[in-house]
Amino acid sequence: MQQLPEAKADPHSEPILELANIRHSYAGNPALRGISLDVARGEFLTLLGPSGSGKSTLLRVIAGLEEPDSVGQMRLDGHDIRKLPANLRNVSTVFQHFALFPHMTVGQNVEYSLRLRKVPQDLRRQRAEEALALVRLEGKYERRIHQLSGGERQRVALARSLVMGPDVLLLDEPLGALDERLRLDMQLELIELRRKTGGTFILVTHSQEEAITMSDRIVLMRSGAIEQVGTPRDLFGSPETEFAARFMGVENVLRGTLAAMSGRRAEVRVGDQIIVGRAVGDVARMGPGDAVFVAIRAEHVHVGAGGGAANTLRGTDGAPIYKGRFSDVTYRSAVGSLVARLGDADQRAPKHADLSFSPEHCIVGVVDRGKLA
Ligand code: ADP
Repeated sequence: MQQLPEAKADPHSEPILELANIRHSYAGNPALRGISLDVARGEFLTLLGPSGSGKSTLLRVIAGLEEPDSVGQMRLDGHDIRKLPANLRNVSTVFQHFALFPHMTVGQNVEYSLRLRKVPQDLRRQRAEEALALVRLEGKYERRIHQLSGGERQRVALARSLVMGPDVLLLDEPLGALDERLRLDMQLELIELRRKTGGTFILVTHSQEEAITMSDRIVLMRSGAIEQVGTPRDLFGSPETEFAARFMGVENVLRGTLAAMSGRRAEVRVGDQIIVGRAVGDVARMGPGDAVFVAIRAEHVHVGAGGGAANTLRGTDGAPIYKGRFSDVTYRSAVGSLVARLGDADQRAPKHADLSFSPEHCIVGVVDRGKLA
């Protein structure tokens, strides 16, 4: 639509949204502990984290639906919006429960906010039709909401949010209520929609898979604070904390003590074994004796001789679990249990085998002390 910026994400342009030191609590319980974040124009940013980590609260603060206890800065398209009421902020929110008006037609729902702003009828209809075309609902203008499927209703909710040409589209778990198949379709549609409009999208989700599929950048949240920010590749391949590693689905997370460091090459003592890995995060602050975690994805644990890697352990009592596309086999080893993945789910898992993994795929990071659980 004409109202949406055409520009693609450009790290050099001014951020569309600038947040500094946002704090909020509910009845004395902190929900946001000083959030600072810039969002680039045209970026698809995802707020990811477990339930209760503060994602929705942050979204509501941006939308103006929640007044934070304190905020250092909140600028939208260069303007201070700290004192601006929700209806005057040029952002739109799509909620999980679409909140459509069931007694109205599709067109009336999409036009609702334009009517409130006294946009003339012809123009309203034209913009509603454009928004419906964007979400592939051409010709559904006169339909009643109850005549639509769940996926179509979600697209009406999207059209209703897009019709105003928001600077930022806020998506609060919009796919959470959809079944698996529809969710995957809608993920692709949202990616396509962002591409077509060039708009800035901020998505809230607790699904790491959804975040990885859709985002330019992921903000991982934990207990009201930002744990790690990075591209999907950063978060997936180089989680910098134990929490991030576990949340991003790393199957093997061990604890050990740093024995030696050379650049990013880290030697870690786990039990009576030495494991060689790749240090992540602020290596300048890491040194021998530090408590560290070691994270290895199951798909990087090679089963059987011939891995040729620096790290080889004897695995015993393999217990496979069939997962359809692959099997995960849990072995006992000198460093505790280790999960290895067999790419061919029908392959018979050896009961006992050498297990090996390369230092590159073995992430080493400091165990955070003062942080909240
Ligand atoms: P998320 O979206 O990550 O699940 P929320 O932002 O909804 O997290 O919640 C953050 C914290 O604030 C949680 O501890 C939650 O229980 C609390 N919280 C959220 N909304 C309210 C509310 N309206 N009243 C009281 N506590 C709330």
